[in-house]
Amino acid sequence: MIPILKPDYSVESLQVLNLKDWHQKGIRGVLIDLDNTISPWRKTTITQEAFDFFERAAVLEIQVLLFSNAAAARAGVAAANAKIPFFPSAKKPLPWKFKQAVKTMGLKPQQVLMIGDQIFTDTLGGNLAGCVTVLLPPLEANEYGGTKILRFMERMIGVKQKPRKS
Ligand SMILES: [Mg+2]
Repeated sequence: MIPILKPDYSVESLQVLNLKDWHQKGIRGVLIDLDNTISPWRKTTITQEAFDFFERAAVLEIQVLLFSNAAAARAGVAAANAKIPFFPSAKKPLPWKFKQAVKTMGLKPQQVLMIGDQIFTDTLGGNLAGCVTVLLPPLEANEYGGTKILRFMERMIGVKQKPRKS
């Protein structure tokens, strides 16, 4: 695969991410995607898996920022539900807002994990910005039309992701 499209890590779920290890490696922040990463598609409800992850991050004083292409109205509701700050209209995969978001946390890109379910937005943008990228399977199969095209492109480069629940 083209290196810029390759996630640094690919995991099955948020549960298996060992934040203690990441903290030891110098990670101090997480940018986390919304749709199909911590919320079902187009929803603002947060999964228990995500709540548990935020709790583990808080204990280690790892900052978590919701980083979504969704507009402020919906991203804000989701962030309030998740009880984490948010950065909306992120325009992933363009790298500038990644850099801005990292700056708002007072960190350097290499101290930040970008966690999301899409290669052509989360992984590509995170890699371009110099973050450590973690790819998760999407929560469910429902997606935007545009995302379906990006999934087709993922399959073209040999990535086939099974939804975490179907
Ligand atoms: Mg997503």
